[in-house]
Amino acid sequence: MKRVLIIYTGGTIGMARTSSGYAPQGDAFHALLNTLPELQDPAMPSWDIVDMNPLLDSSNITVHEWNTIGQMIADQYDQYDGFVILHGTDTMAYTASALSFMLRKNRKPVILTGSQIPLCEIRNDARDNLVTALLIAANDSVHEVCLYFGGKLLRGNRTLKYSADDLVAFISPNYPPLAEAGIQIRYNHKMLLPAVEGSFSLQLLTDVPIGVIKVFPGIQFELFQSIMTEKLKGIVIETFGAGNIPGNADALLPMIRKASENGTIIIVCSQCPHGTVVLGAYETSSALKKAGAISGYDITTEAAVAKLYYLFSRGLSSDEIRSRMSRSIRGEMSTQG
Ligand code: ASP
Repeated sequence: MKRVLIIYTGGTIGMARTSSGYAPQGDAFHALLNTLPELQDPAMPSWDIVDMNPLLDSSNITVHEWNTIGQMIADQYDQYDGFVILHGTDTMAYTASALSFMLRKNRKPVILTGSQIPLCEIRNDARDNLVTALLIAANDSVHEVCLYFGGKLLRGNRTLKYSADDLVAFISPNYPPLAEAGIQIRYNHKMLLPAVEGSFSLQLLTDVPIGVIKVFPGIQFELFQSIMTEKLKGIVIETFGAGNIPGNADALLPMIRKASENGTIIIVCSQCPHGTVVLGAYETSSALKKAGAISGYDITTEAAVAKLYYLFSRGLSSDEIRSRMSRSIRGEMSTQG
């Protein structure tokens, strides 16, 4: 029988009403899980649950908790066939992205899930998300970090939270679902990552200073001068469309040039969830490329941030980081087509 470890980090799925609003509950959540007959059904894998301490609303998750979760997986890696990470939805896409990089040579299913309505409520999406995530975590064909939510299994580092209130809260705009849970759970085998060779290891992350700048009409780039210094190791610029910035970027380009000469890595992402950055397709993006910015192609901002943390934490040179940021290392971006 397959064994799955559930790591409960907090989030709505296990929250209960308190006088100051929903807050994560440990013991009450465990007690509730033990009353669910489906979790004891012989068709289910055998499972254990451990809590992160403290349990958090995922808005409070930092690099420190990513390391804690990564370490909890690494400590039990050989004891279990798969892992389910119960997590708040707000930053689940960031954590899924971070774990996909941190868990090097991972060949086991690591499935993040949560819910929009807590399990303790009569109407909830928690039960189905949990039950299906457990079944997927026991499946031999999944060898990667995924996010299961609202009937779809998605590659973790391709996801973003799309809706604050729909039960289908996540999308993977540039990569098809890895599985769809209808009457059957149908795996899209061609899209799943193959099992990697080699031994598993955990890369812990350091709290590298990273910035995200979202371009908007009328942006006064000169105001960013004080933050675009060599103190920032990585900057993700969320541009318009295929990588375009306003023409008044005279102040931005010298900053980018100087920052990238100083070893800061500047990644260009798009504000459009779907589609890819093509630096140089328009005059308004050629300048970015010339100044030393790197195309993030169709990577999400969430994955770009996590990948920067990961590559800097590995202590690579800035040329090595630039080269790895320009290609896919965990299926997080498509550099062609
Ligand atoms: N604020 C909650 C969290 O991210 C929302 C949720 O879980 O859906 O922890």
